[in-house]
Amino acid sequence: MRLQIEATPEQPKAPKTPINWRRLFSYLAPHRARLALAILSLLFATALGLIFPLVIADLLGAVLAQQGYEALNALTLTLLGLFFAQALFTFVQNYNLAYIGEKIVFRLRNQLYAHIQRLSLEFFVLRRVGEILSRLSSDVNLVRTLLTTNITSLLSNLLTLIGSITIVFVLNPALTLFILVLIPALFLVAVVFGRPLQRLSTRYQDELAAASADAQEALQGVRIVKSFVREEYEIERYYRGTEKTFKTALRLTLYRAAFGGLMAFLGFGSLAAILWFGGREVIEGRLTLPIISSFLIYGVSIAATLGGLAGFYAELRSTLGGVRRVFEVLDTQTSVADAPDALAISSAEGHIKFENVSFAYEDGIEVLKGVSFEVAAGEIVALVGPSGSGKTTIVNLIPRFYDPSAGAIYLDGRDIRTLTQASLRAQIGIVPQETTLFSGTVRENILYGRLDADEAAVIAAAKAANAHDFIMALPKGYDTEVGERGVKLSGGQRQRVAIARAILKDPRILLLDEATSSLDNESERLVQEALDRLMQGRTTLIVAHRLSTIKIASRIIVLEGGRIVEMGTHDQLMALDGLYARLYNMQFRLPEQTAALLSDAPRSDELHMGDGQSAAAPRVGLLGGIGRRTKGE
Ligand code: ADP
Repeated sequence: MRLQIEATPEQPKAPKTPINWRRLFSYLAPHRARLALAILSLLFATALGLIFPLVIADLLGAVLAQQGYEALNALTLTLLGLFFAQALFTFVQNYNLAYIGEKIVFRLRNQLYAHIQRLSLEFFVLRRVGEILSRLSSDVNLVRTLLTTNITSLLSNLLTLIGSITIVFVLNPALTLFILVLIPALFLVAVVFGRPLQRLSTRYQDELAAASADAQEALQGVRIVKSFVREEYEIERYYRGTEKTFKTALRLTLYRAAFGGLMAFLGFGSLAAILWFGGREVIEGRLTLPIISSFLIYGVSIAATLGGLAGFYAELRSTLGGVRRVFEVLDTQTSVADAPDALAISSAEGHIKFENVSFAYEDGIEVLKGVSFEVAAGEIVALVGPSGSGKTTIVNLIPRFYDPSAGAIYLDGRDIRTLTQASLRAQIGIVPQETTLFSGTVRENILYGRLDADEAAVIAAAKAANAHDFIMALPKGYDTEVGERGVKLSGGQRQRVAIARAILKDPRILLLDEATSSLDNESERLVQEALDRLMQGRTTLIVAHRLSTIKIASRIIVLEGGRIVEMGTHDQLMALDGLYARLYNMQFRLPEQTAALLSDAPRSDELHMGDGQSAAAPRVGLLGGIGRRTKGE
């Protein structure tokens, strides 16, 4: 199922799946005992709430009959006792409900997070991180509200309503009619207001999620924002996003306020009617004042519960939106799943074969068309081609981030779809263009490659990655915090940590996405050396941007428009005088490269074929790198 989360709520929504109430209530199941206690307390509190107007009537009756202080004192004490007991039961009820609510939020949040973590890449490409986070926080809270506050307030309101009406009916049936007339009127108001309230509240949530996602992206990419001096632009963008939510919130408030006002008017209006009718009955001598006063109290509570029920209905409609979104995420199937009889391999030779592989991210738009090639175990193969030609896509298909729409990919002669994803990915090391280091120590970041590795292995990996020396120079060596809360490492240092991570993992297959942004010469040399060591003896597929890398490769695959157009060594391809030669020559005709070439600087062999992702100096290259593509950018 493809879940649609629109930034603009005007777009047509995917058809709504009905709420599965059984499934929803199953979250209460582990808390049966506590729930029973809460409901029992609720019953007692409600019952006490029903009794006290009668005690008040007695009290007033006693006062009016001039029975003396004794009766007054006794009745007042009883009343106090009643209120105290009610407070106690309310406490037990509220505490236990809140407890259950928090437990449910806790469980649901982790369930949702675990599910999201295990989903295929496709899920994340279709959504923005900010929106996923909003599912985890606000929508989960809505589920809690529904299961605890809403349901119990429904129960208590219903009980109070039924109890009050019964008592009032026994006291005076004629007067009860005045109250009953209210019910259809309130129901009508609830229905009229319920729909726009739900619509506006869903829209509010969506708009807020979109604005938060904007802010989150801008804050995450704060370097880009600053380098382009786009602070004002981002401020404006967030302003416009939140202005939308502000306007929606205002309309929501308008509806809510009108709804509340109407409810209050209907409630108090009915009290006026009761007073009028009751007053007549007293004048006629058919009713006593104490009965009228208890009637008024019941009237107030009936009006309040009816209002509460109508409010519940309106709130239910907005809450269900959030509940539905939570379940939609939970029901999202991974697009890449293990076959039931999938094989877990413990090792691999590393022979890769693409056989007539086609692939489309979106139906109908094929980005790979009948791609066939083989990489022998231990061979280094470079992928080159213009930006958008499908290099990254080929790399993404090997660890099964996506499955081909036609054709097959084999590892050591086995279709990779017959292997478990975990065991397949255990054989593969990926060094991306942009290294993500998590907050934590340098050691933890290297250990991410193999969690159970010992200290000696970590250090050996760091040495092989040319990272050991700079790590030892950090304030706390391997225990230095990096990332968001710690030391900022340079681009080259981060790449070497990533390489150490991959060396520690020791995979048979290596997928490299060479960075397009250039490093300083020394850093470049250290990274290149580390990469050379990493590649040694492993099957390597590399999205290459530098001539030095391309020259290491035993073969080059040249892609254009999702097809392989040329394949061979650098010399063979140059002799062919085709696309590769053309791209190559055009690169070197660019003045800065030519100058670099002539001066024979160490970076002279750099083929700048970036997607122009480097913010400070965007390059328009011919042989594109793996652009980080976010849908909807
Ligand atoms: P390269 O790595 O050679 O630059 P890619 O493999 O990234 O090319 O992209 C190949 C084609 O697939 C491009 O036309 C690109 O726009 C498209 N594409 C890449 N990622 C996605 C995606 N997640 N959804 C839809 N289209 C995509």
